[in-house]
Amino acid sequence: MPIDPTTVIDRRRLLRIGAGTTTGLLMSAGAAAETLPGPSPIDRGGVKDGKVAFPPWRGEADRPDAPRPTVLPPEQRVGFAIVGLGRLSVSEILPAFGECGQAKPVALVSGSPEKMSTLARQHGIAPEACYGYADFEKLRDNPAVQAVYVVLPNAMHREYTERAAAIGKHVLCEKPMATSSADARAMIAACDRARVALMIAYRIQYQPHHLRVRQFVRDKTFGRLVAFSAGNVQTVHPTGAEQWRHKRALSGGGALPDIGLYCLNTARFVSGEEPDEVYARQFSPAGDPRFAEVEETIDFMLHFPSGLVAHGMSSYGAREDKWQRLQMERATLEMPNAYDYEGQRLLIGQRRGDDKAQEELVLQRKNQFAAEMDHFAECIRGGKGPRTPGEEGLRDHVLMEAIYRSARTSQPVKLG
Ligand code: NAD
Repeated sequence: MPIDPTTVIDRRRLLRIGAGTTTGLLMSAGAAAETLPGPSPIDRGGVKDGKVAFPPWRGEADRPDAPRPTVLPPEQRVGFAIVGLGRLSVSEILPAFGECGQAKPVALVSGSPEKMSTLARQHGIAPEACYGYADFEKLRDNPAVQAVYVVLPNAMHREYTERAAAIGKHVLCEKPMATSSADARAMIAACDRARVALMIAYRIQYQPHHLRVRQFVRDKTFGRLVAFSAGNVQTVHPTGAEQWRHKRALSGGGALPDIGLYCLNTARFVSGEEPDEVYARQFSPAGDPRFAEVEETIDFMLHFPSGLVAHGMSSYGAREDKWQRLQMERATLEMPNAYDYEGQRLLIGQRRGDDKAQEELVLQRKNQFAAEMDHFAECIRGGKGPRTPGEEGLRDHVLMEAIYRSARTSQPVKLG
C-alpha cells in the first residue's frame, strides 16, 4: 500500500516538536487550532424572536432555509392522550410527535395492555399514564393531559369525544368525524357545553402542497377554477371483511367516509366554496362479503354556486392511487399522491410562449400529522379556535348523506 508522504513526520521534526513525546504532539495540534479563525456571525447565528436563526450563506439563486418552526421547551408543550392504538396511531401519529414543537404524547388509552406498555416504553410515556377504556375518566386527574386525540373506529368517535369533553379535555378527533350528521352535531354541542376545543384531523388542510394550491385558487393566480377532479382508491385483502371498516355499525359506510372523504373535503377546502347540488352512483360486487354492508366504489359530482364542478371517485377495488387535478383558466394543476402521508407532488401545466410546459413546484417537506397536532396545541395555548373545527366535519357528514341519498335514488340532491 503506498504511503502518503504528507502524513510522515520525519525524525528531525519530531525532535524539534518536543523530544518525541505524545505531549509534544498534542501541544502541536493545540497550537494549530489556536491559529484557526473563529466563527463569523454568519456561522455562529443567533436567536431572533425565540428561534435560532442564521444569516443567509447560500446565493439568491438557491431556495432559502425553511422557516424555523416554533419549538417549545418540553414542559411548555401541550400534552396529548392518544386513544386507540391501531395502525394510524402506531405508524404515523406517535412517530410524528418527534417532529412536533408544541405538542407531546403524555398518555395512552387502549384495550391491549401489552401493546400499550410496549408503545409507552418506546415513546417515553410513564406506565401510570396508561389507561384502559373503562378507566378513561381517570385522565381527568392527570394534569399533564390537556388534549385527547381520538383515533378509534368511526362509530366510537362520538362516545370518546363526549367523554373527553365531560372531563374537561380538548378533543382532536380523527376523520370522518362520526358516522352521521346527528352524531357530529351532538359532539359539537358537548364540546361547546364543556367549553373545550374540538378539532377534526383533516391533515390535508395542513399539508404544504394543498395549502399552496388553495392560495393559487384564492388569488386567481391562473384565473378561475373551472373544474376539480380527484380519486382515492386502494384495495382490501381477500379476508378483509373482518376489519371494522367493512361493518357498517362501526364505519358508517365504505370507501366514501374512509378515503373518498379526502376528495370531498379538499374540493371544499381549496375552492373555499360549498356545493349546492350533488349527484352520485355507487357499486359493490355481488356476493363479496367485504362489501355486504358497505360500498366498494362510489362516484360523485358536486356543483358549486360559482359554476365550479367537482368530480370525486373512491374505491376499495383498485390498486392504490390518490390523485387530484384542477383545471383553471390558464393552468392545469396536477397532483400525484395528493392524499398520501407523504410524497405529494405539484405539476403546473401552462403555455410558455409558443410552447406548452409542465413544471414541478418542489416544496419544503412537512409532516402533516405533526403540523396538525402543533396547530391544535397552538390553538389550546392561545385560546383560539382551530382551522378545522367540528363544524367542518359536520358539513362533510351532511354532504356524504346527500351523496348516499343521490346514489340510492339516482337523482341529484339539492343542498340548502
Ligand atoms: P385500526 O383498525 O388500525 O385501529 C383501530 C383501533 O381501535 C385498534 O387498535 C382496535 O383495537 C381499537 N378498537 C377499539 N374498539 C374497537 C372495536 N369495537 N372494533 C375495532 N377496533 C376497535 O384503524 P386505524 O386505521 O388506526 O383508524 C382509526 C381512525 O383513524 C379511524 O377513524 C380512521 O378513519 C382514521 N384514520 C385516519 C387516517 C388519516 O390519514 N388521517 C388514516 C387512517 C385512519
